[in-house]
Amino acid sequence: MKKIAIIGSTGSIGTQTLDVAAAHPDQFQVEALAGGSNIQLLLEQVRQFRPRIVSVGTAGLAEEIKPHLPAGTRLYCGGEGLIEVAAGSDADMVVTAVVGSVGLRSTLAAIEAGKQIGLANKETLVTAGHLVMERAAAKGVAILPVDSEHSAVFQCLNGERRAEISNITLTASGGSFRDLTRDQLSHVTVEDALKHPNWSMGAKITIDSATMVNKGLEVIEAHWLFGTPYEQIKVLLHPESIVHSYVEFVDGSIMAQLGTPDMRVPIQYALTYPQRMSAPGKRLSLAEVGQLHFREMDYERFPCLRLAFECGKIGGTAPTAYNAANEIAVARFLNKEISFLQIEMILERVLEEHQAAAHPDLDTIEAVDAWARKQARQLSF
Ligand code: NAD
Ligand code: MG
Repeated sequence: MKKIAIIGSTGSIGTQTLDVAAAHPDQFQVEALAGGSNIQLLLEQVRQFRPRIVSVGTAGLAEEIKPHLPAGTRLYCGGEGLIEVAAGSDADMVVTAVVGSVGLRSTLAAIEAGKQIGLANKETLVTAGHLVMERAAAKGVAILPVDSEHSAVFQCLNGERRAEISNITLTASGGSFRDLTRDQLSHVTVEDALKHPNWSMGAKITIDSATMVNKGLEVIEAHWLFGTPYEQIKVLLHPESIVHSYVEFVDGSIMAQLGTPDMRVPIQYALTYPQRMSAPGKRLSLAEVGQLHFREMDYERFPCLRLAFECGKIGGTAPTAYNAANEIAVARFLNKEISFLQIEMILERVLEEHQAAAHPDLDTIEAVDAWARKQARQLSF
């Protein structure tokens, strides 16, 4: 039995992680769950999986859920609750499925407690990749990717030597607006942006896919997960999301991982690694698909991706500022305060003002994160 804890259990990745656990009840035991504000769903999860530790977003929500919890369940809330769920249970592995850099402290706490990490929460690695990877190495903790592209690369690298990688290519579906021109983008709505052609995901990552910030975050995530220099990371548009990513080796051989777009596959691989288990989803038939399409990434069309590469190469706190500014810009767009193209304007302006610090510690990271959020909130158009 593998014991797991999930931070962000009520979201898209969280619920799919529980689907995987429910499909293999003899393999997984759920020790702890943290949700945000959807306490109805969290309660259903508690009844089904009987975790010993539960956490909710606020003290008010904790009061609401308390009378309905089974006797003996330990209840927490807020940031402290995330840390308790991540580090305070008997879990062997923690799936980080919260959205945003709010996941950083709890992920670090899980690493310090010696838990394996199933990493979905890419913002954590973007904001403080050097700290997370350094602590994981020091504690001998594996960081197993949940993100489909990184799971693909991880699978392609099984048994291979990192030094023999020529380059890594992350594929990008292009998001909701991949076929619109820059002119057309000035009129798009929140509702349009939330319609992703291939994947059903949380709101923030769906917007990030449309701006290509998601791929930018993933480039930085790949840099930290695989130790690959930015010069050796490429991005290719692939509208079908069938080839999840690939690796080219020094001899010119390319290894790719393919499958239908179903997050339960990479989630399950992270949970069962180095083993594989049967999975219920639809199987890929290349004969049925017939054709796959690929095209060069256009960095003029998607300036947020160019900015991510720039921030990654600068390093230090540059990716921290990129991520934090984006979190606020996306929230403002979802709140209908700004237009779609103003997301990238906020990123550009905040990064122009940011003086990146090298080798930042956790306090510096959190200070820059707070500063970038404040700047991004204040910008008006
Ligand atoms: P989501 O919005 O569907 O779910 C987020 C979860 O985090 C919810 O349970 C929410 O309640 C919880 N949460 C948010 N803020 C919180 C807080 N302050 N305290 C406690 N809980 C909080 O998001 P998602 O789409 O599942 O994405 C989660 C992470 O996984 C993101 O980092 C995303 O980039 C990454 N990811 C998602 C997908 C996908 O298919 N959805 C794919 C790859 C990577
Ligand atoms: Mg991805």
